Amino acid sequence: MDAARFARPHILNQPVYQPGKPIAHVAREFGLDAARIDKLASNENPLGPSPMALAAATAALRGVNLYPDGCCWDLNGKLAERLQVGRDQLVLGNGSNEILELVAHVFLGPGTEAIMGVHGFAVYRLVTLLMGAKPVEVPMPGFAHDLAAMRAAVMPRTRVVFLASPNNPTGTAHTEAELIAFARSLPENVLFVLDEAYAEYQDRAPDLRPLIAEGRPVLCTRTFSKIYGLAGLRVGYGYTRPDIAALLHRARQPFNINAVAQAAALAALDDDDFVRRSRENNRAGLQQLAAGFRELGLEHVPSEANFILVQVPDGAKAFQFLQARGTIVRPFGDLPDHVRITVGTPDQNARGLANLRTYLASRA
Ligand SMILES: *Cc1c(COP(=O)(O)O)cnc(C)c1O
Repeated sequence: MDAARFARPHILNQPVYQPGKPIAHVAREFGLDAARIDKLASNENPLGPSPMALAAATAALRGVNLYPDGCCWDLNGKLAERLQVGRDQLVLGNGSNEILELVAHVFLGPGTEAIMGVHGFAVYRLVTLLMGAKPVEVPMPGFAHDLAAMRAAVMPRTRVVFLASPNNPTGTAHTEAELIAFARSLPENVLFVLDEAYAEYQDRAPDLRPLIAEGRPVLCTRTFSKIYGLAGLRVGYGYTRPDIAALLHRARQPFNINAVAQAAALAALDDDDFVRRSRENNRAGLQQLAAGFRELGLEHVPSEANFILVQVPDGAKAFQFLQARGTIVRPFGDLPDHVRITVGTPDQNARGLANLRTYLASRA
């Protein structure tokens, strides 16, 4: 018997996340040398992993016969100290993606709704659907979240509002004052998830800790996948009210962060030099790409993150054309006239721009 006939029915309609294409796949498909392919598709750090994290991860491999520390004592403690929050306010995840999924496990199910921007991070919709809840996708005029419209979408069935600032894939961000006013406007039984995956790239990231301290149901998520360069190890975290953290802990696996990842993340937090270099490379790269787009006559959405959404004729074709020439970018079904390009090294950015120029010439 077809297993689909005894599976839970909603799983048959569950959409599947489309990741950026791995370099090896593109090399195989187009007969390219993998060393000459630039993956500017998944907002990874072009400078590699933090060297201090790499050394700590290598050392930790010797101990992988043992289970990892299920409560992540050291990493939890260092994050608590850095953020000036209690240990009981933190939850670590296998990527911040897992924190989003834990939110869905705890707060969403049939008959409930989660609010998100129509061009918000794709995972919000996926975790909502996975729990049998309804995603309410609010239009984003000018590619930014419309906070008033998101507030107006709150219904008695609403349990969660997901919002990334800076947002992926648009790169748009909100001010601290806007986010605080929005959070305060929400009912007390609606969890506000502020996804801060790109906060470390901002000059000064909004700080919602005072709202959490005064008892608002706010959860901020962060990740080691972006500025710390550890996407392949999968570590992220959330900080929130202690009672909310306790609920999320109930839903997680006992050993959800592996030992190598814990060691690497702990060391990465001390690698100030790497973080500074990453931020500087990104700032220069954003300017390089923006100037390049202007020269090519392409409109882009101003970004506070490590990528830019740029308008191109036929995003799907542009993606195909660029990847055959060794630059992997990210197309989006809901943004058919755009692609998202991650800030790379100066050389990678220059090659990406040159390939874009060739693409535009091929259509003239
Ligand atoms: C990349 C990204 C994440 C991070 O995902 P991880 O699971 O931590 O790798 C979370 N939210 C947004 C908006 C992102 O772009």
